[in-house]
Amino acid sequence: MHRGRSIHVRGIVQGVGFRPFIYGLATRYDLGGWVLNNSSGVDIEVYGAVDSINDFVNAIEAEKPPLAVIDNLETVELDTAQPEWALTKHGPAFTIRESEDQPQAFVPISPDVATCDDCLREMLDPHDRRYRYPFTNCTNCGPRFTIIRDVPYDRPLTTMSAFEMCPSCQAEYDDPSNRRFHAQPNACPECGPQLSLSGSPEHPGSFSLRKDLPLLGDAALIETQRLLDEGAVVAVKGLGGYHLACNAADDDVVRLLRERKGRVDKPYAVMATDIDVVRTFAHVSDAEEALLQSRQRPIVLLSKREDYWLSDLTAPGNHMIGVMLPYTPFHHLLLQDEPGQPADRRRHRVYVMTSGNLSEEPIVKDNEEAYTRLSSLADAFLQHDRDIYIHCDDSVVRSFRNETVFIRRARGYAPAPIGLPVEMRPILAVGGELKNTFCLTNGPYAFMSQHIGDMENLETLQAFERTVDHYRSIFRVEPESLACDMHPAYLSTRWAMEQAEKRNLPLIQVQHHHAHIAAVMAEHGLEPGERVIGLALDGTGYGADGTIWGGEILAAGYTGFQRVGRLRPVPLPGGDAAIRRPYRMALSYLWDAGIEWAAEMPPVQAASVEELRILHRQLETGLNATLTSSMGRFFDAISSIAGVRQTISYEAQAAMEFEALVEDGRQNSYDTLSVIHPLKMVDPKSPPSLHSVNPDLQFEIDSRPIVRQVANDVLNGVLPSIIATRFHQTIADVMAVCCRQVRHTTGLNKVALSGGVFQNMRLLGSILDTLQDDGFTVLTHRQLPANDGGLALGQAVVAHYRTLE
Ligand code: ZN
Ligand code: ZN
Ligand code: FE
Repeated sequence: MHRGRSIHVRGIVQGVGFRPFIYGLATRYDLGGWVLNNSSGVDIEVYGAVDSINDFVNAIEAEKPPLAVIDNLETVELDTAQPEWALTKHGPAFTIRESEDQPQAFVPISPDVATCDDCLREMLDPHDRRYRYPFTNCTNCGPRFTIIRDVPYDRPLTTMSAFEMCPSCQAEYDDPSNRRFHAQPNACPECGPQLSLSGSPEHPGSFSLRKDLPLLGDAALIETQRLLDEGAVVAVKGLGGYHLACNAADDDVVRLLRERKGRVDKPYAVMATDIDVVRTFAHVSDAEEALLQSRQRPIVLLSKREDYWLSDLTAPGNHMIGVMLPYTPFHHLLLQDEPGQPADRRRHRVYVMTSGNLSEEPIVKDNEEAYTRLSSLADAFLQHDRDIYIHCDDSVVRSFRNETVFIRRARGYAPAPIGLPVEMRPILAVGGELKNTFCLTNGPYAFMSQHIGDMENLETLQAFERTVDHYRSIFRVEPESLACDMHPAYLSTRWAMEQAEKRNLPLIQVQHHHAHIAAVMAEHGLEPGERVIGLALDGTGYGADGTIWGGEILAAGYTGFQRVGRLRPVPLPGGDAAIRRPYRMALSYLWDAGIEWAAEMPPVQAASVEELRILHRQLETGLNATLTSSMGRFFDAISSIAGVRQTISYEAQAAMEFEALVEDGRQNSYDTLSVIHPLKMVDPKSPPSLHSVNPDLQFEIDSRPIVRQVANDVLNGVLPSIIATRFHQTIADVMAVCCRQVRHTTGLNKVALSGGVFQNMRLLGSILDTLQDDGFTVLTHRQLPANDGGLALGQAVVAHYRTLE
C-alpha cells in the first residue's frame, strides 16, 4: 500500500549533514518526496510503501549523522498517494529543496567542530587536491557557530559568502552522495580562504623578520613555524578569535609574552601536536585522553609530570597545565613537521596558545582589530581572510572521577542548548560580573552563551551586547522578561535595568547564591516544587542584606530560598585590596579570632608596618571594611597564614596553590566540635541588623577555632602541605555537619553544590565523599561551570518560576 507522510525534526539538524543523510535514506527505501531546512528544523515529505516509510522513520533516529541531535520528531500521515512530481520515469524522485525561513520559529545551531579524520587524511595526502590546505572541512567537521550570521544555516548567511566555489567544490556541494554535500564552508586551495603572514606594524621586539613579507599560503605557514621555533610571538587567527602563540619550551619568549601581555602568573594553555607529545609533559588518564580528542577539543587541565620539560613560566606555581590538541586543519599543519622530515628528526612541538587580547579584554577576532590591539604584543601576524562573525574562546574543562567538569564553556559546546525540564517563556538572564555568560530561554531550551569575559570594561560590555543581539536573532527569541543579579554595581545588572526600562519589560533580580543553586537544580531537571539543601561556596556575591556572601547554606527551591546557615562574617578590609592581597584577609581573620599579629606569621611579614597600623584601625572601626561570609576569602586567608601565597595576580590564585599542596591518604582534620553555633551564640560584635534581615538564619560556622588551630600549626612549624590537607578535610567535615543540621530541621536530603570554590577538586571530592557516606544525594554541575559562568541559567529559571507565581 502506498502512502505519504510528513515529518518534522527538531534539534541540531542543520549544518550537520542531515539533509544528505535523509536523501540517502529515501533512496535506500525507494521513497519519493523532499527535504528542506527551515528555521525551526528540518521538514520532510515522503511517499512510497507504508512499510518502507516506517523503516525510513526508524532509521532517522537510529542512523543519524554523528553531529546531529534530535530533540523531537513528529510525523503526520498524508492522505495522498505518490504525487506526479515525486516520480520520475525511473521510479520515485527525492529532492533537496531550497531553505525556507519562518520568522517565528527557531532551531539550535551546531557548535564549531574539530577536523574529522577523513578531512585530516585528505589534507595529509600529497595526491589530494586539498593537500596541506588549512581550511579543509566537510559536513562532519569545521566552523559553524563562529561563521553564522543568521539562520537558516546556508552559505549566503555565513562569512563564507565572500568566497565563490570553484567547479570542483560546487560539484561536491551538489552531489548528495558526497561528504561535502551542502557543506556550507566547503572550500579548497582554488577558491577558499588563504593564509597570510605579515610583520607587526609596531615591531615590538628585536626579532628580525624576513624582508619579503607578507607571505601567502603554505609559505606563510612554514615561515610561521620557523618564527615560533626561533622564539617569536606570533598572533595567529584561529576559529573563534586570535591566539598569541610562542614556543612553550622557551623560557625567554614565554617571559617576553608575559611582560607584553601584562600577565604575571596566570597560567597559559598550550597546544601539542598529538596525544603522544602531551604524554611527554603531563599525566593523561583515559578520560582525559577522550576529552582531549573529543570533537569539542577543549583545553583540558592535566597534572604536570615530574619531568615537565616545558618552560616553568607556562603555568608558574601551578601543578596543572591546560592542554589542547589541534582542532582546525590549520592548527594540525602548524604543529606538525614540515613535509618530508625523517621520523628520527621529528620535533615535539608544543606552543603556548593564549587568547589574543590585552588582560581582561575580549578575545580579538577581526583582522583590522588585531593590527590595532595586538601589534604591541606580537612580532608577526598569521591571518586569513575568512571572517569570524562571533568570537568564541577555547573551552576549559577538567576530568574529575571520569566526569567532565566545566571551568569555561565556549568553543565546541556553545551554543548547544541545555535541555530544560519544563517549557520556559522567553527570558534573557544577563549573568554576573566575572566570567560572564548570559542565558536566553525559549521552550525546552536554555541557550547559554559562550564565555564573554569579565564585565569590567567597555570592550567586554560591547562584546556582551553584540552577542546578546546575535543570540536573539539566530534563535528568533524576543525576551519577554529580564533577569539579573542583585549587585547594584555589576555592569550586567545596570545594563539589564536600562533595557527593562527602555523596552518596558519586567526585571527579576535574583540573589547570587540562589541563582547558583537554582542552576544546579535546573541542570538536574528538578521538579518545580522541589527543594534542596544548597551549599553555595564562592568568592563574592551580593547578599540579600547588602553584605558580601559566599559561604552560604541555603534551603532553596526555584522560587525562593532561606539562608539557614553561613560562614561567620569577617571584615573585608579595603574591599578589592583584600581580594588582591590575601594577607589582608588573613590579618582580618587573625584579628577576628583574637590572635596576636606575631612577627613570625607569614601575613604579618607580608605587610608593611604602616599597612599593619592602618589595617588595624580599619578593623577596629569597621571603616572601609564591609563584612563578608565568603568561603573563597576564607581559603585565601588560610593560604596566606600557612605561608603559601600573600598576593595574587589572577583570581583564586592563593586558593589554587593551597589546593595543590593537599596530600592523598591523610584523613586527619582540625577539631570541629565548637565550630557550628546556633545563631543565638553569634558574637555580639556582628551588627544586629544582620540578624533582623535574616530571620531564617539558624546557625553559623565559626571560623575562629579553625583559625586558632591553623595559627598554632604555623607557629609550630607544621608543613603547609599538612595544613592544607587538614584544612580541606575540616571544611568538608563542617559542611557535612551543616547538611545534617538542615536535614534534621527540614527533612531535605538532596544537596546541591555550586559556586567557584567547587572548582577546588580536592574540596569537591572530600565533600562528595563525606556527604554520600552520610546518605545524602549530591547534585553537582554537569554541563555548566560551578563558577559565575553558570549563574545565568539559575537566574533564568528563578525568573521563570517567579513570574508564574
Ligand atoms: Zn571533515
Ligand atoms: Zn574549490
Ligand atoms: Fe558566584
